[in-house]
Amino acid sequence: MGLKESLILRVAKRWISGADLESALLDARLANERGMGAVINFLGEEITDPAAADMQVEEYLRLQQGMYDRNLKGFASVKLTQFGLVADEEGAVRRLNRVADNAERLGQQLWIDMENSRVEEDTVRVYLDALKRHRTLGVALQAYMRRSEADLKTLLDAGGRVRLVKGAYRESREVVYGSRKEVAENFRMLMAMLFDRGEGFAIGTHDSRLVEEARRLADSKHVDFEFEMLKGIRNELKEELVKSGYRVSEYLPYGDRWLAYSRRRMTEHPGNVWLLLRSLV
Ligand SMILES: Cc1cc2nc3c(=O)[nH]c(=O)nc-3n(C[C@H](O)[C@H](O)[C@H](O)COP(=O)(O)OP(=O)(O)OC[C@H]3O[C@@H](n4cnc5c(N)ncnc54)[C@H](O)[C@@H]3O)c2cc1C
Repeated sequence: MGLKESLILRVAKRWISGADLESALLDARLANERGMGAVINFLGEEITDPAAADMQVEEYLRLQQGMYDRNLKGFASVKLTQFGLVADEEGAVRRLNRVADNAERLGQQLWIDMENSRVEEDTVRVYLDALKRHRTLGVALQAYMRRSEADLKTLLDAGGRVRLVKGAYRESREVVYGSRKEVAENFRMLMAMLFDRGEGFAIGTHDSRLVEEARRLADSKHVDFEFEMLKGIRNELKEELVKSGYRVSEYLPYGDRWLAYSRRRMTEHPGNVWLLLRSLV
């Protein structure tokens, strides 16, 4: 491991459960004890080798069984490129169906994370198709994407479940809103659509103003939704929401492919540079 990577790892540990399944299941138990559900992601993306993609499926099946056996409240969240989407869409769909079938067998939900704009169109298409067979399957949508309003309408028309997030990938101005203000405005607009027409959706943000707005909408609309927040971020806010009676889940990534995920967490918040510097002293 290079110097830069080992420095990032020092800070990244607060966002990641650990390298193996046991550490994720332990974090899930801790989340449950704090009154939250767990959304567990086995870290991996951009996988093209079919054998490696199959191994990702096996890991998710073990994860789902582990949660079931230990009576843990929560479910898995997968990335389609870890199932080989870029190299072989048919194979990725087959792998997704195995994990989704298993979720249903065990009475669990399943979510699909949204990745970069290169695979957005494919992810939405694969999701809509899979939704016909798996009615509780959910997918993330990113408020920074200009196309998300149109996607959300399509997903709501199909009865889909959506986790609304701001978006974490570096993208060109042609496809995303450029300023934080525009992203927050679009988030508000999409969130209002969800509270109007959605069901079983998730609001995935740590932004206090957006959380406040969601609480206001929730109090007037009384729909089924939950807040979802990342491990290691805004723990006091999670606890306050739990205490106020909202459903909250904690997103827990694990595995040894932690670098790409940690880079995204590192760069989205300037305070993390200080954390990194402090870890050196
Ligand atoms: C449950 C969940 C699932 C997600 N799934 C996806 C997905 O599928 N695809 C995708 O593109 N993105 C996903 N994201 C990431 C998301 O797109 C944002 O990058 C991330 O949530 C930061 O945006 P924010 O809404 O919290 O707002 P921000 O304005 O970035 O943050 C609000 C406040 O939260 C705190 N905070 C936020 N991020 C950090 C951080 N990294 N370190 C320290 N403090 C921080 C700070 O106090 C900050 O002021 C997910 C996020 C969540 C919560």
